Amino acid sequence: MELRPETLCIQAGYTPGNGEPRQVPIIQSTTFKYSTSEDMGKLFDLEAEGYFYSRLQNPTCDHVAAKICALEGGVAAMLTSSGQAATFYSIFNIASCGDHVIASSAIYGGSFNLFSVTMKKMGISFTFLSPDCTEEELNAAFQPNTKAVFGETIANPALSVLDIEKFAKCAHAHGVPLIVDNTFATPINCRPFEFGADIVTHSTTKYMDGHAAVLGGCIVDSGNFDWMAHADKFPGLCTPDDSYHGVVYAERFGKGAFITKCTAQLMRDFGAMQAPQNAFILNLGLESLPFRMKQHCQNADKIARFLHGHEKVAWVRYCGLEDDPYYTLAQKYLPNGSCGVISFGLKSGRKGAETFMKHLKLGSIETHVADSRTCCLHPASSTHRQMSDAELDAAGVGADLIRLSCGLENSEDLIADIAQALENV
Ligand SMILES: *Cc1c(COP(=O)(O)O)cnc(C)c1O
Repeated sequence: MELRPETLCIQAGYTPGNGEPRQVPIIQSTTFKYSTSEDMGKLFDLEAEGYFYSRLQNPTCDHVAAKICALEGGVAAMLTSSGQAATFYSIFNIASCGDHVIASSAIYGGSFNLFSVTMKKMGISFTFLSPDCTEEELNAAFQPNTKAVFGETIANPALSVLDIEKFAKCAHAHGVPLIVDNTFATPINCRPFEFGADIVTHSTTKYMDGHAAVLGGCIVDSGNFDWMAHADKFPGLCTPDDSYHGVVYAERFGKGAFITKCTAQLMRDFGAMQAPQNAFILNLGLESLPFRMKQHCQNADKIARFLHGHEKVAWVRYCGLEDDPYYTLAQKYLPNGSCGVISFGLKSGRKGAETFMKHLKLGSIETHVADSRTCCLHPASSTHRQMSDAELDAAGVGADLIRLSCGLENSEDLIADIAQALENV
């Protein structure tokens, strides 16, 4: 039976047996007991499935990962301690020193830093391309050592919409997977696998938790990418792993190869595991995700329209607005809504932004988004304050840009608050 998202958010990932807890149990244990060394040995040889140490796998985390996997329509998934860990693992699982990755330039600042500074130090090079590039430009960016293409469904904070089919087509033509960070859209509003993406990542810190309570990440594999068909590019998946007695992941684990390797190698070695307590809290957030997404999107739509018609507002970016440059792509990829985040600028520019935010009463100033509480950020005076106006423009974050994450409050209250703050500008 094909279940709908509302049902999956409640029921998927955990089905209690007779007399077992109805709610996902928090397995607060670092370790797991075995009767014989032989039983445990099978786990270390990856011959049997089971738990032995919570740095690699924990049942609570696996139940919650299975729910997100079902929501995305994937075959295997794992939780990580943060979205950053999910992004890093998703690429490092298939690219190593000497390899190359193509990424959209419209991505989260933390991902950009991870790629362009930290992973560069590890010997992995990145080419950044505008998400609006042509197929010719995209095809021209591939090198013999390119191992993946990476983009965000809705970019944070640029709010551009990725043409997933275009990126998937070019990635596949060059024998590499497309990895999509689906944090802002969530599987409620877009399922990138339906458009050809191979791997999806999430910062579950955002809408999935939705209450600004726990950091977390998730990686989901569609199971669609045929690693063995491109075995020369992906030796880590297609040749023996000496650290597990010569197992060949793509042969032994088939569609589960990517997640099994990522758990067995990267979790083992880096240990960016989500705590079971955090997974439990994340799971509570997931139960209401479809209802919250609807309300976030409705509030954002109303607020974007209010701002759009206001005399003191210079511009508004929200892909649900008919005159937004990403409206057409949003109609295709996000027909039921995009997310609750809007960006806009005032005619009075940088100074106006600072005054406006100071006078907001309901919307608080935070470096966060996708929370039940409305919050806003003026990057030029906070996260990006070391940049000149010219550098800000080049980064697509103008000196006047205000990022507003619309929460779950009543939209009329939010609009009244925004209106009074604008009066002070
Ligand atoms: C926040 C965010 C991340 C990083 O997630 P953390 O949970 O903060 O580590 C990655 N991608 C996107 C799109 C984000 O918004």
